[in-house]
Formats: sequence, C-alpha cells, structure tokens
Amino acid sequence: MMQNGMVKTLIYEKQVRLFYMDNTRLVNEILQLSNGTDKIQKVVLAKTISAVSLMSATLKGSQRISVQITMTNPNYKVFADADANGNVRGYLNEGLRHASSGFMRNVSLENLIGEKGTIRVIKGSAMNQFTGITDMPYRNINDDFSHFFAQSEQTQTFIGTDLIFNEKDEQLLVSQGIFAQLLPGASPHLIGEIKNIYRNNQPFFNSLGKCNESKVEEKLSEFFPDVKYMESSSVQFYCGCSKEMFYGMLYSLEEDEIRQSIKNQESIETGCQICGRTYRFTIHELQALLS
Ligand SMILES: [Zn+2]
Repeated sequence: MMQNGMVKTLIYEKQVRLFYMDNTRLVNEILQLSNGTDKIQKVVLAKTISAVSLMSATLKGSQRISVQITMTNPNYKVFADADANGNVRGYLNEGLRHASSGFMRNVSLENLIGEKGTIRVIKGSAMNQFTGITDMPYRNINDDFSHFFAQSEQTQTFIGTDLIFNEKDEQLLVSQGIFAQLLPGASPHLIGEIKNIYRNNQPFFNSLGKCNESKVEEKLSEFFPDVKYMESSSVQFYCGCSKEMFYGMLYSLEEDEIRQSIKNQESIETGCQICGRTYRFTIHELQALLS
C-alpha cells in the first residue's frame, strides 16, 4: 500500500511523463490543524496541497516551490509550499480560516474562487527564482494549475486530483492525484486523452493507492500504452520552523511588552500558524533578549 507515495512513469512511448500520487496521510495531517472549518475550506486547502505535492516531483536539488492562491475576495488566501524531497506544508490565511460559517456552508468552489482569482507560483532556488502569476479561468484549482503551466511555462500539463470524505465530511478517506506533462515532440492531443481517462475512471484512481508501488505500473498499463516505471518517491507533511526563527518575531515585539512579561514573571508563547507547533520563551530567555 502506498502511503504518502509517488510513482513516476513515462507513457505513450516516452512522449509523456506521468506521476501518480496518494497523499491521503499528508493531507489528513494538515487538515487536522484547521479543525472547525467547513468542508469547502478543507477542499480548497486539500486541492492546493495536492497540486503542490505533485509539482514537488518536478523539483531538483535545493529548489522549492511556493504557491499562493488569492480568491476574488482578497481576504481569502491559501498558501502551500514544498521542496524537492517532497516535504510539503500548507495553510489557509486567517481571513479564510475564520470566514463566516454561514457563507462557507453554502458557497461552491467556483463561487468562492470567483472571477478574479489568481495563482502565484514562486519556483527555484535562492540564486535563481522564477515568479509566475496567472488568473483562474476554470475556477476549480486543478484546471487552473494546468492553465498556469500553459501560460507561464509553455508546457501542456494536466493536474488531476480527487478527494473522498466520509459521510459526515469529517474524515478524509482518500486523496490522490496525477501529474501528466507532454515532453518535447509529443502529440498535443495526448493531454486531452489523459484527462478523459482520469476523469472517467475515478474509482480506479482512488483505489490505486491501495496497491503496492511495484503494482502501480502494471495497473496503469490497463489504461495507458507503454508504461515505463522510472522511480518512486515520497511526499510528507513537514514544517521546517524552529524556535530560533521565532526569536526574530519577539525582537519585533515592543520592548515594553517583553519587560512587562519579565516583571509579571510570565513566559511568552508563540505559535507557528503553519504546523501548529508552539514555542515558549522563558523569563530567562526574555531577559537574555534584552541584555
Ligand atoms: Zn511550523
């Protein structure tokens, strides 16, 4: 069984690279941190995380990818980023996380994104960074990422993802996706063909993650000609935050505030909004900060 696994293949006589990923565990871990949100918020976050998880498989070395989706209402944003080792994290901004439940319970994904949604992608390493911004004409995230690749990278790419929740929409049972990209010289119609196969066979792709990684190649061959297995990799939830990073935030607090805490014999606690980890600074540490 693939847990947080990705299988990379070539199909159609090496005209297309196709990745299949099951990231159910990773997405579940992140969704648990945004407890209390409605299904639509979970869906937006999960779909963004899945797209970024798939795109992490295209990175090399020290490259990172970071994505920001801004809805037509600019108070609503989703962030996700990943590195070449498949370390992925993501979160909803305060505005989207705490949006009125009355509105969130009734809004569709299409209407939440609205007519003026944008995707911003920053990709590369510290020395060589690329930023692309595109609109979201499809208003469903997946096809908007495909649109991003066509506009920004001039590649024909299909990103498909799917989610299955339990009946009460509390637990995510399956999260999977595919990334298909035409290689130079490929027949352009293949991307539409792959899209149709993916869309028309959701039960197959939803259950593919239950196979061993070694079986995925054989299974994919039922739908795609000439599948060549390349390699397997993993994706996982990982936030690289540290206590040291939060020292900087404390510095920016009013000096008076820190003095007050010392005077009241209170430690200061600050939390990472991405992974939920909390960091406590003792009075001793606060004193050291001021000296
Ligand atoms: Zn963190």
